[in-house]
Amino acid sequence: MSLGQSPPGSTAPPPVPAAGAAGAEALLALHRCIEGCTVCPLHATRTRAVPGDGPVTARIMAVGEAPGENEDRTGRPFVGAAGQLLTRLLQSIGLDRQDIYICNVLKCRPPGNRDPEPAEVSACAHFLDEQAALIRPDVILLLGRHAVGRLLPGMPGISRIHGQRVRRGDRLYVPLFHPAAALYNASLLRTLEEDMQRVRGYLDEAQAERERLQREQAEEAARAAAVRAADEQLTLF
Ligand code: SF4
Repeated sequence: MSLGQSPPGSTAPPPVPAAGAAGAEALLALHRCIEGCTVCPLHATRTRAVPGDGPVTARIMAVGEAPGENEDRTGRPFVGAAGQLLTRLLQSIGLDRQDIYICNVLKCRPPGNRDPEPAEVSACAHFLDEQAALIRPDVILLLGRHAVGRLLPGMPGISRIHGQRVRRGDRLYVPLFHPAAALYNASLLRTLEEDMQRVRGYLDEAQAERERLQREQAEEAARAAAVRAADEQLTLF
């Protein structure tokens, strides 16, 4: 194991986030770890593992359930019809899919697209934790009940909390219906479109908050520098 990877079930904290080029390299290395992972039985039936897609600088991370047939074949997440819908939904709020980091709870396809089993989710959990720790997005979109169950355990069902903001620690989550569920359900699609409009507002607020914190940190650093300079002046006399 490498890159801060802890064994399944480990309570070790996630690795310290990396930034810039180092962060991009760390994310790439994590993807390589996932591609070679044989920890749970899904490795035996997959064609390719599907680590995730998007820049380490992404301000939004989207987490789905598990790779499907197209994803298993290409090694990329959300490339089928559900992926096209996700791209369209992101565009509807002015976001380019290439600016989003997209991944799944499970990195390997369950045979026949069956639901993930708890042991598989547990074995794969540290990869998702490491991805979130490296990217540190403003908002994490949870696409469907499996993503909600993994990252917001104990929350009510997705039909009750979809479109709402849920803060846990320094992370902001927004549960949404899975695009695949909305493909052939016009009412669910309308709900998903409305929820995405809310996401736009959440993002704007998160960005404003981030910029406020950065401003405060810069002002604090300037104040500390001024105090140091004054102290140095005094020592000259
Ligand atoms: S699903 Fe996760 S834990 Fe299982 S083999 Fe794939 S990467 Fe490893």
